[in-house]
Amino acid sequence: MFQYCPGCASKKIDFQGNRFHCPDCGFVYYHNTAAATGCVIRTGETLLLLVRGKEPAKGKLDLPGGFVNPGEGALEGLHREMEEEIGWTPPVPPGSPLTGVYTLFASFPNVYPYRNIEYNTCDLFFTLAVPSLSEGDLRLEEAEIAGVRFVKASEINFDDLAFDSTRRALRAWLDQYGNDWYV
Ligand SMILES: [Zn+2]
Repeated sequence: MFQYCPGCASKKIDFQGNRFHCPDCGFVYYHNTAAATGCVIRTGETLLLLVRGKEPAKGKLDLPGGFVNPGEGALEGLHREMEEEIGWTPPVPPGSPLTGVYTLFASFPNVYPYRNIEYNTCDLFFTLAVPSLSEGDLRLEEAEIAGVRFVKASEINFDDLAFDSTRRALRAWLDQYGNDWYV
């Protein structure tokens, strides 16, 4: 990521774990884990999955969500990403915190490669159920999202999912909520 020290241009800068260090000038930079979110939206007997419109994993299936921005909490970040990516957010009763809308059910690490740099993320997975939701309710972010799929649990092809953390999250979701699927 850095070939030269940003502090003194030394070529001796090295990277271990998550830390860049320059022995010549003492420069230190921590390439820390970033927080990211994903949301399993259940509507009726289907789950909403997005078709990624850009790399990494272009064309693979993903959940709504994304990186948490500086200054945001995880729920605010998720709510913003939902608005940006699918143009739809669940109704939030006035004065109600987002914790009453989205339920955290799992968290897994992920590695997100972007332009030759790997970002380690801590993915937080939330879920919510809505009585009805269809493609006509959504306004997709064209640069990011190529389409949507409403899939039944039995029709999820785990090989089509974009990321390991998403696979683990959907398995965890099915373990936790799958028994109620047809209720
Ligand atoms: Zn230096």
